[in-house]
Amino acid sequence: MKASEIELAEAIGDDHISAALETPMVENAFDLSDDEKILQIEHHFAEIMKTMGLDLTDDSLQGTPRRVAKMYIKEVFTGLDPKNKPSVALFKNKYKYKEMLVEKNITVKSFCEHHFVPIIGMAHVAYISNGNVIGLSKINRIVQYYAKRPQVQERLTVQIANELKKILKTEDVAVIIDAKHMCVSMRGVEDETSSTVTSSYHGKFQNDEKKQELFKYMD
Ligand SMILES: [Zn+2]
Repeated sequence: MKASEIELAEAIGDDHISAALETPMVENAFDLSDDEKILQIEHHFAEIMKTMGLDLTDDSLQGTPRRVAKMYIKEVFTGLDPKNKPSVALFKNKYKYKEMLVEKNITVKSFCEHHFVPIIGMAHVAYISNGNVIGLSKINRIVQYYAKRPQVQERLTVQIANELKKILKTEDVAVIIDAKHMCVSMRGVEDETSSTVTSSYHGKFQNDEKKQELFKYMD
């Protein structure tokens, strides 16, 4: 990269300017098995630690590269792999419930893709059934799946909304996320108290009346 490009890339990362809707991934992202990925990350993370001057022969540090590699592939970034996408069964809404359903205060634990430090907060998800419903815990699972990626909050919000629209076969979906970014509190401006709110309103949620109803339930 040229110096001007590096400067721009750093500025974009710091300002969290939103990226494309799809998580940017290379075509051969799944050529390696999970075990092969863990081995490679273990090697590279050890190099990072050594570069910083850490002694990897120390008892306390020697297991860290492998621990980090396993955490990335088996825990915090499992949402990158479509094989981990939750399967969601759609049920007929037999009780004819046609009102708004709000699932609020869903824990969001993600990672900022610009700094690889945590984003922690809450998601509030709403939909209006058009005759189909899903199990309530599935909403949490969908949030978790998309959160377990390196993310920008804006993209996470829209990805969850789009997935729910697809599954529920309705446009009437709303997602709000309120989260704290460790890249804002631990570094950069080091602000402890600010949080970021993003929203994605679709279908009937684009009209003010439905929005107000949703806000009422969230109070
Ligand atoms: Zn960040």
